[in-house]
Amino acid sequence: MKACDVVGYTADGEAWCPAGTAARYGPAHPTRDQRDRDGNAVHPVFAADEWTYEPVCGACGASLPARVVHVRRSR
Ligand SMILES: [Zn+2]
Repeated sequence: MKACDVVGYTADGEAWCPAGTAARYGPAHPTRDQRDRDGNAVHPVFAADEWTYEPVCGACGASLPARVVHVRRSR
């Protein structure tokens, strides 16, 4: 998998796998902006993106193959 591969999307504050994104927001299309239900852009998740938790599709529960980094928070 390449770092620039799109492994899913984020919208409405949740992560979505490509199939779940297409089912919820319509198929990705280069000339059409996908918008979530709040009118914000649907953002692609790339394989190299770092997450502090494992992103899981809000529709089917599949985990997206993004990088998970463990951030230690100081108090
Ligand atoms: Zn899914």
